Amino acid sequence: SKSLGKGRITHYDAALNSVRERQLLIENDIRNGLDRDEFDVWYQPIVDARSLAMIGVEALVRWPRRPAGELKPDDFIAIAETSGLIYELGQFVLRRACNDLQAHSNLKLSVNISPAQFRDPDFEDKVANVLRRTRFPPARLQLEVTETYVLENPERAHMAITTLKTLGTSVALDDFGTGYSSIGYLRRFNFETIKIDKSLAGLVDDDEQASALVSGTIRIASALGMMVVAEGVENEKQMKMLRLAGCDQLQGYWFSEPMPLDNILHLRHLRQG
Ligand code: C2E
Ligand code: CA
Ligand code: CA
Ligand code: CA
Repeated sequence: SKSLGKGRITHYDAALNSVRERQLLIENDIRNGLDRDEFDVWYQPIVDARSLAMIGVEALVRWPRRPAGELKPDDFIAIAETSGLIYELGQFVLRRACNDLQAHSNLKLSVNISPAQFRDPDFEDKVANVLRRTRFPPARLQLEVTETYVLENPERAHMAITTLKTLGTSVALDDFGTGYSSIGYLRRFNFETIKIDKSLAGLVDDDEQASALVSGTIRIASALGMMVVAEGVENEKQMKMLRLAGCDQLQGYWFSEPMPLDNILHLRHLRQG
C-alpha cells in the first residue's frame, strides 16, 4: 500500500542518517582519541619462509582506550581517511613504530600507509623527518600500500615510490589478489615486495585449482624479482603449501597474532609446525 511504501522510504532515510551520524561520532572520537593518547601500536611477526625465524614485524594500530568501546582498524581507518584524520593517525603510528623498533636492530618494520596519506605532497618529507628524529635506519623500514593508491594517480605513485627508495626505504604492495591489476602492470612501480592477500593465501588448502592459482602468482612475482610475502597463514597445511610454492616470507595466526611490543620481543618460540 501507499503508506507502507512511504514508511519504507522514511526508514531508509533514517538508516542513512544513522550511518552518517555514526561516522561523525567516530570521527569525533578519533580526534579526541589522538589528543588523549588512546591509540596503541601492536606488532605481528613476519617469518622467513625457510628458517621460520622472525625477521620483521608489521605495525597494526589498536584503539583499546576508546571510552565508548574498542573498535577494529577496519571500523575506523576508513573514517579517519574520509575525515582527513588519517594524516595525524598515520604519523602517530609511524613515529611510535620507529621509536619502538629502533633498538631492535635485527627486525625489519612494515607500516601500513593509506592512499590518503600518500596523496599528501609532503608525505616523503614527513617520512624522512620521522626517520631522522627517531634515528631509525631507512633500510629497515618498509611501507605497505594498496593497489587503490597506485591506480588513483600512477604518476604520483611512481614519483613517491622513487623518492622513498632514494631515502633507502622500500615499498610493498599490500593485499595483492584483491584488486584487478595484473602483476605485469604493477611491476612498473618497482615494488620490492608483494604481499599476497589473506583471502588468496587462505585458498591454498582448499582445492588444487585455487592452489595452482596462488602458486602461479608467486612464481610470476618471483620471476619478476619481487619478494613474496603471504599473509593470513592460519594452519600447518597452508604454511607447508606456501613454502613449497616459493614464498619468501610468511605471516599469520599460525605463527603469532599481533601483540604489544614486549610480548613480541619475548616470543622465543614461534610455532614451527
Ligand atoms: P592488513 O594491512 O591487510 O593487515 C593484516 C590484517 O590481518 C590485520 O588485521 C591482522 O591482524 C590480520 N591477520 C593477521 N594474521 C591473520 C590470519 O592468520 N588470519 C586472519 N583472518 N587475519 C589475520 P587488523 O589489525 O584488524 O587490520 C585490518 C586492516 O586495517 C589492515 O589490513 C590495514 O589495511 C588496516 N590498518 C591496520 N593498522 C593500520 C595503520 O596503522 N595504518 C593504516 N593506514 N591502516 C591500518
Ligand atoms: Ca598490511
Ligand atoms: Ca591484507
Ligand atoms: Ca582455506
